[in-house]
Amino acid sequence: MTSTTNFLELANKGIQGLQPYEPGKPIETLARELNLNPDEIVKLASNENPLGASPKVLTAIQAAAQELTRYPDGSGHRLKAALAAKYQLQPENFTLGNGSNDLLDLIGRCWLEAGRNAVYSQYAFAVYPITTQAQGAEHKQVAAVNWGHNLAAMAEAVDAATSVVFLANPNNPTGTSFSHNELVTFLQQVPSRVLVVLDEAYTEFVTRDDHPKALELLAEYPNLIICRTLAKAYGLAGLRLGYAISSPEIAEVLNRIRQPFNVNSLALEAGLAALEDRDYLEQTVALNNRGKQQLEAAFNQLGLNFIPSQGNFICVEIENAAQVNTGLLTKGVIVRPLAGYQMPNHLRVSIGTEAENARFIEALTQVLPD
Ligand SMILES: *Cc1c(COP(=O)(O)O)cnc(C)c1O
Repeated sequence: MTSTTNFLELANKGIQGLQPYEPGKPIETLARELNLNPDEIVKLASNENPLGASPKVLTAIQAAAQELTRYPDGSGHRLKAALAAKYQLQPENFTLGNGSNDLLDLIGRCWLEAGRNAVYSQYAFAVYPITTQAQGAEHKQVAAVNWGHNLAAMAEAVDAATSVVFLANPNNPTGTSFSHNELVTFLQQVPSRVLVVLDEAYTEFVTRDDHPKALELLAEYPNLIICRTLAKAYGLAGLRLGYAISSPEIAEVLNRIRQPFNVNSLALEAGLAALEDRDYLEQTVALNNRGKQQLEAAFNQLGLNFIPSQGNFICVEIENAAQVNTGLLTKGVIVRPLAGYQMPNHLRVSIGTEAENARFIEALTQVLPD
């Protein structure tokens, strides 16, 4: 049945100008297209954890599956208690999300609307413009320096209509980062009525030693919201679980619009198990550091520039990246083209296992133009 009504025209103004988020190509899709076995495909496109889920998480999920007919604990009581103990804060400082994207969306819905604006950086995570646009708020995108946030210019861009600033540290897709002192200087410059959203999706992978100790800044800056996720270093991308750390006052506002059961029961139990599995986290970080060296060495050997990364992915500079991406796909290797980020000469590759990285390097060597 087709309709002559233009439902897009009838949608909210902000939604009309929205382009959907482009996720990495799923393994199954490429396997179907190439008529390959999914096992033969290497996916390094979505910054997922190459270790596979922690066995402790799998055990927790099996136990939780016995209770699938019950609604989850909508307050996330035990998980928030565990987070509070981990960070020496109170459960009231936490808001749980169906992935941290859920939290970014909740923040937009609480504090952005037509007549207000959000400040974020060029090349910053795509969800910030989407959230801003969906609310009908104005965009203030600030030009990047060396692919990273120009915090001084971002502080200057804040005006009377700014209600939210989005910062990603490290940033996805560029892997750039800023230091503790740079963050403090920024917070000092921004009025306390402006919410500063510090998206730390990759914080566990950071190796620089002046990485912000953001939790220590919460008491002094009650307008700070730290967003974290269990999708990356904790390996739970498929379960959707993230959390925000903020003043109780901010958490209370978020809680007003949060769906009562936004985090499912398996994710709640898996999250508890994942937070306790320190070995898994250590192995993840060690694997990432080795893989980063492996990829950087290969890029150097191939004479390719890359943006130094503090995350679990690297942006490599390749002329005609779209064509090279197509070549990689035909070899069963999925990475992320960045034309949507206005970076047509880069590919973002997630750091995988040693074998996955080697497969990618081999395929890249074959498809690079001479
Ligand atoms: C992956 C990512 C997230 C979070 O993703 P969820 O899966 O929704 O938890 C948030 N911010 C950035 C910058 C990311 O790259």
